[in-house]
Amino acid sequence: MQRASCYRKRHLLLVIAGFLARSVLAQNVASEASASPSASPSPTPIVFSERTLADLKQLQQAALSSDYAFREVAYLSNNIGPRLTGSAQATRAVEYVAEEMKAIGCQVQLEKVIVPHWVRGEEIGALVQFPGQAKGTTQKIVLTALGASVATPVEGITADLVCVRDFEELKSLPREKVSGKIVLFNHAFDKRMAGQGHGGEAYGQAVVYRSDSPSAAAKLGAVGCLVRSVGGADYRLPHTGQTKYEDGVPKIPAAAVTGEDADLVAALTREGAVKMKLILTPQTLPDSESANVIADIKGTEHPEQVIIVSGHLDSWDLGTGAIDDGAGVAVSMEAAHLIQQLHLKPKRTIRVIAWMNEENGSAGSKGYAKDHASDFMNHFAAIETDGGAGHPLGINIKGKPEVKAMFLPVGKVLQESGAGILSFVEHAGADIEPLEKAGVPSFAPIQDSRFYFNYHHTAADTLDKIVPHELQENAAVIAVLSYALASMEQPLPR
Ligand SMILES: [Zn+2]
Repeated sequence: MQRASCYRKRHLLLVIAGFLARSVLAQNVASEASASPSASPSPTPIVFSERTLADLKQLQQAALSSDYAFREVAYLSNNIGPRLTGSAQATRAVEYVAEEMKAIGCQVQLEKVIVPHWVRGEEIGALVQFPGQAKGTTQKIVLTALGASVATPVEGITADLVCVRDFEELKSLPREKVSGKIVLFNHAFDKRMAGQGHGGEAYGQAVVYRSDSPSAAAKLGAVGCLVRSVGGADYRLPHTGQTKYEDGVPKIPAAAVTGEDADLVAALTREGAVKMKLILTPQTLPDSESANVIADIKGTEHPEQVIIVSGHLDSWDLGTGAIDDGAGVAVSMEAAHLIQQLHLKPKRTIRVIAWMNEENGSAGSKGYAKDHASDFMNHFAAIETDGGAGHPLGINIKGKPEVKAMFLPVGKVLQESGAGILSFVEHAGADIEPLEKAGVPSFAPIQDSRFYFNYHHTAADTLDKIVPHELQENAAVIAVLSYALASMEQPLPR
């Protein structure tokens, strides 16, 4: 490790030396060129003024000692509570964030969004027949309905269980082995990958089972579908999340079982026949009206150019949506709060957005894209925080290679709280994806993802999972990054 970092330092020095040599060369070429009457001078352009860099340092220090973001996420999760799209709490959260942003002097608008309204019902799972069963007993299976799941009949369904590891194993089974049964997809979330800081990748590999399993099982005649929870919880907690039904395929009830219960079912089905009773009574109610909260601090020089600073306001219903994504909304609000409190004047407009419906439909993101598509060329950059509140290591960038060199001074400021890494990613955030696809440079904090998926979408996504100082560190990254983008002396390449 020591040697590697030593190498890295040396490598960095060489890179810097090379860069300096090149810029000296460029300046010489420029001055020679300017000596000739036919060419115009092209000095190395300044990206951030000295004044801006001083403001960034001030913002960072203010964020690291402010409790505003923590108070906001505490209110969202403790006082308002779970904010599933369509719920009274989601409606209250929209009003609350709008009131808070008005109170600090932002120009606030609610942009209407039509959202789905799914509500959880009763959820009961029990093994009613299995090898070695003591007479007259059943075994409880801890599970929770997946978002969008249809219901079982009120009395439930009782059917044999089939356990498969993955889609390939399912496809290898003859139809008669699956038809009329409940299928469990026992595909494990890779805890070792998450434990080494690649939580997002581990999630990405497993989440396809949550979304695609019900239709895959229904195509072979299954009557119910269970998936092993996508996440690393070790305390028999199921993780919910949205599933999707393919058009033209029967919709069958779908639930996530805990990792422990998936292991139990897998072990018993290896020994012999296992029958399960499953009751799920969720309902899909008529679509309802909700909103994205849009809060602007107008730019002084280019008010038409917008920097989106965002998180999503809706959450799943099992916990209180503290890390997913009360934290992301709170650090975005904090960026605006600090800019106002320090009387900073961004050149471009800072637009805080609390998105609605990221979890089960992305209606807020799609609605914004539709309403603002003709103005995307004026969207200078977009930021989304949706990975919890773990210690940030730096900034993920979805943009042109030149952006990294331009942001080195910002990385240097953020390195003081250990957040100086600048890294390129394919994708920066779910709600800002339409902007990304339109070529708007997009950014997200690089957050510690080792523990996030232990709580994500479970009943344990509660305020205590947020370490106040780590939330401040995230707020520092978002405040510095937003203000840096809003105050750059150059346009971003796109
Ligand atoms: Zn989220």
